[in-house]
Amino acid sequence: MNNFTTVFIGLGSNLSDPAEQINSALNELAQLPSSRALQCAPWYSSKAIGPGDQPDYINTVVKLETILAAEKLLDQLQSIEKKHGRQRNIRWGARTLDLDILLFGEEVISTNRLEIPHPEMNWRGFVLKPLFDLAPTLTLPKGHSVKEYLAACDTSDLRLLKDVFIAQ
Ligand code: ATP
Ligand code: CA
Ligand code: CA
Repeated sequence: MNNFTTVFIGLGSNLSDPAEQINSALNELAQLPSSRALQCAPWYSSKAIGPGDQPDYINTVVKLETILAAEKLLDQLQSIEKKHGRQRNIRWGARTLDLDILLFGEEVISTNRLEIPHPEMNWRGFVLKPLFDLAPTLTLPKGHSVKEYLAACDTSDLRLLKDVFIAQ
């Protein structure tokens, strides 16, 4: 029986050599316990949406399979963020590494620590474009497809940086 859940994780960085931050985060995701990282989407750069004059972001999405529960996966992701020196001072401030759980199988989760599907993903081009690249026919638990959300979204500031794929 296959008890793995397919998960999509959004990665973002705009501080301290973002390409290196994303690269090492990919290696760390590939080593997560009870999980296997299957694929990484192409990388995109985009303008920061947060406050102040921030450097551009690099964003991508990773697909992985895990037998971890969603909150355990969040613990693992937060410990990777911590290793990357992530500080949480200003909401949507510049960061070395941000790891968001976008989708956790078909599950809809709403707890103190987790909202899944990620509540902001439906209007963020820097999430939808790499997610669409990885999973062009994916439908969200509430019924709309990633393709539909992407079509309604402004992606004009996205720039393709790199086409990378990690171990299948
Ligand atoms: P945004 O959620 O708008 O992308 P952010 O990523 O900057 O903002 P963070 O400071 O990284 O926000 O996270 C704040 C809290 O969000 C975390 O402590 C975590 O408990 C919670 N959270 C809720 N849903 C999720 C999710 N799907 N993935 C990751 N964290 C989540
Ligand atoms: Ca985020
Ligand atoms: Ca986050």
